[in-house]
Amino acid sequence: MSTEWGDGTRCGRAGLPEPVAGQPFLPSPVFAAPFHLGESGDYYGAADNPTWRTLEAAIGELDGGHCVLFPSGMGAIAAVLRTLTTVGDTVVIPSDGYYLTRELLDHRVVRQVPTSGEWDAAALAGARLVLLESPSNPGMDVCDIAAIAATAHEAGALVAVDNTTATPIGQRPLALGADLSVASDTKALSGHSDVVLGHVSCADPAVGERLRTERRHAGLAIGPFEAWLAHRGLGTLDLRLARQAANAQALVTALRGHPAVHGLRWPGDPADPAYPVASRQMRRFGGVLSFVLPSQEIVEKFLAASQLLAAATSFGGLHSSVDRRARWGDPVPPGFVRFSCGIEDTADLVSDVLASLDRVQ
Ligand code: PLP
Repeated sequence: MSTEWGDGTRCGRAGLPEPVAGQPFLPSPVFAAPFHLGESGDYYGAADNPTWRTLEAAIGELDGGHCVLFPSGMGAIAAVLRTLTTVGDTVVIPSDGYYLTRELLDHRVVRQVPTSGEWDAAALAGARLVLLESPSNPGMDVCDIAAIAATAHEAGALVAVDNTTATPIGQRPLALGADLSVASDTKALSGHSDVVLGHVSCADPAVGERLRTERRHAGLAIGPFEAWLAHRGLGTLDLRLARQAANAQALVTALRGHPAVHGLRWPGDPADPAYPVASRQMRRFGGVLSFVLPSQEIVEKFLAASQLLAAATSFGGLHSSVDRRARWGDPVPPGFVRFSCGIEDTADLVSDVLASLDRVQ
C-alpha cells in the first residue's frame, strides 16, 4: 500500500488481499477450530487464524509495525507486561491513565510521573518499561512521546504507548521512537460499539514473535467474527474520526466559557495546555474530550435532559456518549465527565448539549 496515500484511501485498503476475480474485497471470516493438517499452513484456531492475520496486516500497515491481535485492549496490555517485565521490575507510567492498567501493575514497582511533567533521566532511572498513554484517559492530557522515548532508551527501558484515544491514524508512536504501540480496538478503530478487541504493534518483529507465543500460551484466542467486524469498521475510520473531531471542536467552542462547565480538555484546541505537544506529535485529533460539571446530580440531570447522549463507559463509537468517571473510582471530581463525540450532525449535537445544560441550570 502506498505510504503517499491519504488516511481515507489507506484505511479503506489496509490489509486487503490483491484482487482476484470472483473473490470478495474483504475475505469472509474463517471459523475453523482444527484445520486439515499438512506440511505448512494453519493447524489450530487457538494458535493462529487467517482472519486475524488479515486484520494484523491492516493495522500493522497503519501503525508502521508488526501487529499482534489480542481479544481486548487489556489482554494486549497484560501480554506486554507479562512478556517484557517480571514481578519486581520498575514500570513508569503517567499520573493520568486507564484505571485497569494501573490495577494490573500491582506486582511491579510503579513510579508515576505527571503526564505533562518532567520525564527526565532521574524519573526513568532503573526502569524496565515506560508505559505511556497519550492522550490519556480520562484526563485528555498529553506527554511528549519522542522526548520521553529518547530519555527512556538512554536509561535502558523499553517504551510502550497506549494509543487507544488517538488510533493508528491519529498518532504513530513507533515513528515517534516508541518500541510498542498498544491499543483497545474496542473504541474508535472498530468504531461501532459491537466489538471487544486489542492489539500491539512492535517495531521489532522478534518482540512481536514473543507476544504471539504469549498469546498462544495464555489461550488469548480472538473471535474470527470480531476480527472481521473490526476490519470492516476500520475501512471508515478516517470518515468517522473526521466527523467526531469536528463535533469535538464545535462542542469545545460552544462550551468554553459556559458557566456550568469547568476544566474543559481537548488536545486539538489551541487554547488547551496540551496543544503545543499534541499538534507536533499527533497527525489529527479525535472526538474525546473531558470536562467537569458542578455535581453528580447535575451530570445525571444533564443526561436525562438530552435526546442524543447515552450514559456509557466506552468511547469512539458512532453515538455520542458520556461517562462520569468517578463512578469507576478514577481520582476525579464527582461531576467529571469523559465525553465521546459520535458522528451525529454537528449542529444537532451542539444544540442538544446546550439545551440539556440550559434545562438543568
Ligand atoms: N486503554 C485505554 C486507554 C482504554 O480506555 C481502555 C478501555 O477503556 C483499555 C485500554 C482497555 O481496553 P479493553 O476494554 O478493550 O480491554
